[in-house]
Amino acid sequence: MTDIKKVVVLGTGVLGSQIAFQTAYSGFHVTAYDINDTVIAAAKERFAGLVETYKNEVAGAADGKAEAALGNLSYATDLADATADADLVIEAVPEVLDLKRSIYTTLGQVAPAKTIFATNSSTLLPSDMAEATGRPDRFLALHFANRVWSSNTAEVMGTAQTSSDIFDTVVEFASEIGMVPIPIHKEKAGYVLNSLLVPFLNAALDLAAGDYAAPADVDKTWRIGTGSPLGPFQIYDIVGLNTPYNILVNGGPHEKELAAWLKSNYIDEGKLGVAAGEGFYKY
Ligand code: NAD
Repeated sequence: MTDIKKVVVLGTGVLGSQIAFQTAYSGFHVTAYDINDTVIAAAKERFAGLVETYKNEVAGAADGKAEAALGNLSYATDLADATADADLVIEAVPEVLDLKRSIYTTLGQVAPAKTIFATNSSTLLPSDMAEATGRPDRFLALHFANRVWSSNTAEVMGTAQTSSDIFDTVVEFASEIGMVPIPIHKEKAGYVLNSLLVPFLNAALDLAAGDYAAPADVDKTWRIGTGSPLGPFQIYDIVGLNTPYNILVNGGPHEKELAAWLKSNYIDEGKLGVAAGEGFYKY
């Protein structure tokens, strides 16, 4: 067991609300921090929605356990108050480096020396924020996947300055909140999952955009050939086409061509994936 008891989650958006709720659901006291009362009111609605989702999708949650999680949550808009006795702060604010750095500068000043800081950043590297924290030995990345209650990996990745004790503590904490911890031995953009997934999805797109094979046939090949339940275009539809488009359009000339193909054939037609009712497939 770790010594972590009080957790603060910074940012109550898509991922922050899920991380806060899952941690509260696992029995920890969690303070959900955001910038103002309006956002906190929206967060409370997200948490109410998560109660229903857990009841429907998490075994055992319907027996009062999902509602009980709400009792472990408190709310704050003052960073010093929120973190006064925090053992761990998990940061899930927008993926903007200057914003994260400025939050870490303030956090480093107001949080007690014992507090561990973990960033949920998807693409920014923790080493780019480490100095701003003022305590790089107690700072690392703890990266969750969307829908934390079912896609429950937690990739743990330190910088060269992260203490090994802190790394091990956060790996153990991830297990304590029902995640499957994935220790990453040194810093790597994309962690494990996106280091595998992004080139895989790009290769699939290359086959379809180059008119080598239809998306459904690419998927069929992958499913039959590997026994995987989903092919790459089914995964695109679940992720939603905007995020891969944004990654590709910022890449090299070939990635830009793939982005243009995705845009003219799918995005401009409103075919954005499962959430839009149609992407590479109809839903
Ligand atoms: P989001 O936009 O849904 O939520 C961000 C939250 O941060 C909002 O509630 C916003 O009010 C709050 N915020 C803004 N400025 C703040 C500040 N100064 N202090 C505290 N809170 C502030 O974003 P998200 O999708 O939840 O992403 C948050 C982080 O999680 C990003 O680093 C992202 O890369 C990462 N992440 C996202 C996903 C995903 O699928 N959405 C998956 C893994 C990791």
